[in-house]
Parts: sequence; structure tokens; C-alpha cells
Amino acid sequence: MNTAMNPVMNSATLVRALSAAHAAVLEHKDEIAALDQAIGDGDHVFNLLRGLEAVMLEKEALLGQDLAPALKSVAKKLLESVGGSAGPLLASLVLGMAKAVREPITPLVFAGMVENGVQAMSLRGKASVGEKTMLDVLIPVAECLNELAQEGAPLEVSLERVRHTAQEGMRSTEEMIATKGRAAFLGERSRGVIDPGARSSQIMIEAICGVLAPSAAPA
Ligand code: ADP
Ligand code: MG
Repeated sequence: MNTAMNPVMNSATLVRALSAAHAAVLEHKDEIAALDQAIGDGDHVFNLLRGLEAVMLEKEALLGQDLAPALKSVAKKLLESVGGSAGPLLASLVLGMAKAVREPITPLVFAGMVENGVQAMSLRGKASVGEKTMLDVLIPVAECLNELAQEGAPLEVSLERVRHTAQEGMRSTEEMIATKGRAAFLGERSRGVIDPGARSSQIMIEAICGVLAPSAAPA
């Protein structure tokens, strides 16, 4: 099947992606909580779960919408429900993705959506790579997706590279000193712990890749 007939994402895959992200964060709840207890205030995973649960309650409504309005609804829910630093940042990411939707959702369009979303988050948080935040995962992933889409890489190859890039980005935060967010107050003492937002982002990306894999397509 070609990509024109088989879009990278639509409202149904968006809902499955969010549902998989929710399940994966829930599965790693204690681990993420421990990271934020070490260099933050411990609330990150609970903020995130509250947001994902609120989004899941809207599942049926999302399924009835086109992708751009569905993403806008998700952004609104996240903004209302997540709180902390991560709420407005994640809402910017999803809203930025919504604004770059162009039908049909080819790999290039999808990569452009992710790039636009990540740029919006970076502007909102005034942060970039190397500051020990979720952007250490998201910026390399957006770059990698764009390179792969331009090369015309097969979806399975892209998803594998995205998973790997997300893991590398997440691990890279361990030795960084935080310069943004609550962990920045710790200065040198923030070193030696993986950033909770980087870990939760990588866990969600891993889960979403599983949903977008061609073999995961429902019959
Ligand atoms: P809070 O720090 O307000 O308690 P959370 O615990 O929900 O918020 O989220 C913390 C995470 O937010 C951090 O682990 C980091 O990844 C991310 N974060 C914090 N500040 C920024 C920023 N300016 N840009 C991007 N991500 C950030
Ligand atoms: Mg926190």
C-alpha cells in the first residue's frame, strides 16, 4: 500500500497512539516518579497521567474529528489538566503539530508536524538541546524524522531509528547539569540522574512507534 492510501496518522491512529502512551507511562510510573523526586518535586508522572487520562475520556469525540481539530482538542485538554512546567510545554507541542497538518499526512508532512510542534515547545520553554529537559529527546527525534522522510526511508526503518534516537537523547540527560526547570536550582547536583521529562517523552515515543508500525495496523 502506498503512503497516499495509508496516511502516517489520522484520528484513529492518534487515539491509539495516546492510549499506548498512557499505558506505557502508567507501566513506568514508579520509575519516572523516582527521577522527579531526585531532581524535581516528584509530581511529573502524576501531572502527565492526569492529562493522558483526561484525553482518554475524550476518545470518542476525538475519533469523530479530523486530525487537526483532534490535535487541537488534545492540546487544550493537556493545557487544562497537566499543570506543572510540562503542561503548557506539551500543549504547545501538540498545538504546533496541529498547525502543520496538511492532508494527506505523508511521512514528510508528519515530520514537518513534529518539527513545528517541537519548535513551538522550544520557543515556549526558551530551551534547547543540552539543558537536561524533554527537548534533549524531542529535538533529535524531530531532526531524525525529517532526515528520514527526506531520504524516503521505509516506515519500519524510520521507527527503529526514531526509537534509538529517543533512547540516546534520554540517556544523554544523565550527565547534564540542568539549566531549565526546577532541576536547574540544583546546579551541579542535578548531574547523575536522567531527566524525568526526557524519560517520559522517550517512553511515550517508544509506545507511539509501536502503534505507527505497519505490523500494528488493525485489520
Ligand atoms: P514542574 O517542574 O513544574 O514540577 P513537571 O514535573 O511536570 O513540572 O515537569 C518537569 C519536566 O519538565 C522536566 O523533567 C523537564 O523535562 C521539563 N521541563 C522543565 N522546564 C522545561 C523547559 N523550559 N523546556 C522544556 N522542558 C522543560
Ligand atoms: Mg515536577
